[in-house]
Amino acid sequence: MDKPKKEKQFLGHPRGLLTLSMTEFWERFSYYGMRAILIYYMYYSVAKGGLGFSQPTALSIMSIYGSLVYLSSTIGGFISDRLLGARKTVFWGGILIMLGHIMLSLPAGSLALFGSIILIVLGTGLLKPNVSEMVGNLYSEKDLRRDSGFSIFVMGINFGSLLAPLVVTWFQAKYNFHVGFSLAAFGMAVGLIFYVIDGRKYINHKDNQAPDPISAAELRPLLSKIGIGLLVLAILLVGMAAMGALNVTNVISLITIFAVAIPIIYFWMMLRSKKVTKVERSRVWAYVPLFLAAVIFWAIEESGSSVLAVFAANQTQLNFAGFKILPGWFQMLNPLFILLYGPIFARLWVKMGDKQPSSPKKFASGLVFAGVSYLVMILPLMLSGISARVSPLWLVLSWAIVEIAEMLISPVGLSVTTKLAPKAFSSQMMSMWFLCDAAAQAINAQLVRFYTPGTEMAYFGIIGALTVVLGVLMFFIVPRIEKLMQGVN
Ligand code: GLU
Ligand code: ASP
Repeated sequence: MDKPKKEKQFLGHPRGLLTLSMTEFWERFSYYGMRAILIYYMYYSVAKGGLGFSQPTALSIMSIYGSLVYLSSTIGGFISDRLLGARKTVFWGGILIMLGHIMLSLPAGSLALFGSIILIVLGTGLLKPNVSEMVGNLYSEKDLRRDSGFSIFVMGINFGSLLAPLVVTWFQAKYNFHVGFSLAAFGMAVGLIFYVIDGRKYINHKDNQAPDPISAAELRPLLSKIGIGLLVLAILLVGMAAMGALNVTNVISLITIFAVAIPIIYFWMMLRSKKVTKVERSRVWAYVPLFLAAVIFWAIEESGSSVLAVFAANQTQLNFAGFKILPGWFQMLNPLFILLYGPIFARLWVKMGDKQPSSPKKFASGLVFAGVSYLVMILPLMLSGISARVSPLWLVLSWAIVEIAEMLISPVGLSVTTKLAPKAFSSQMMSMWFLCDAAAQAINAQLVRFYTPGTEMAYFGIIGALTVVLGVLMFFIVPRIEKLMQGVN
């Protein structure tokens, strides 16, 4: 009953893995294609086809947008679990995302930008967590193919993120921004067609229904809670407007507070819940430092599409070895290195077997690498000064280093999150992982304002050095974290 209808195979995996990987390939294609040009769209002058925002505002919007996209995954998880089931939730998510990109493909200025952000935030929240959940549901709990299934899925994500900046940036340069964005809309449309045709046949039956449908008795209190929440928000916004303080900067700060508060509330709930056993509580405590480390790591990783993207456009030689580089192309380095390193790390961990470092140790080393990836960016500025354009190889080096950190934190974090989850909170814990990235980018939304012409060295230097120091300090508390993990490694 729980098995997918047809036992067709794909690379020795259930055939549904191909359906879901392709869907996520196209969804990530649209997301990272759009992100590769969005920062430039916001701060380029109107004459260059942009919106003419100031650079700090553009950087800040880029980050808070990224934060909201992962923050909304909590809503997507809820809608799938309690209302629609994963299959339908993913479908509606894809529709909203496509509409969001279509909106940007119209030359309708900043109104279209903010409308598109709302659509894509909601759509991605519906789609992304649930498509991963559906991958998990293709396998029984003890199926040994599970991890390798997820590796294939992650390859799909990164192939999508690799191809998108290449083509979308090229179309943007040849035609204009809106043609670039319409390519993102096209990508999501292809993904949806694929998903609809294949989805019915190859995914787990379970995903057709909500696993824990909401009862009529629960609905009323829920609706009143949502109502109160919306009312509080409305009062807040009206209050801000009355004080003449309703502007982009303040709305971003408000979201930053939310994005940081939500994981704190989650932790508090889990630590206080009576449904959590003593051993489980200890594991939740162990998760706290891991969560914090992941936040710092994602803050640096995600700055690749904001701070480093600006560095690529403003301070990098774009005519290199007789070749014209488009700044958006640098966004290919992140997925490229993941695809290169992935098999190497997979083999390394298998080879090391029991002797491989524990998750907390991997996290601590990840932080050090992330910090170093920022510190190396000081060198070209020291050597050539802040007004020169430096070799693009510096950015390649920085990404080569930060992606080592990603290998040590991203897949490890995903799996350790599920292992440390208290039973009563297992699906919420999955959202916790996305909340790391959400909190990171919310913090970035404030930090990136300090990245201005002339402050680059201080920006990379201070954040990079602090991160390295925290990584080293984390090594000292690794034994304590390991003990709190109670047998999980
Ligand atoms: N970059 C990855 C993706 O787009 C991971 C994001 C995350 O886990 O926060 O799926
Ligand atoms: N590293 C990101 C994610 O895994 C992709 C990107 O930023 O392009 O997969």
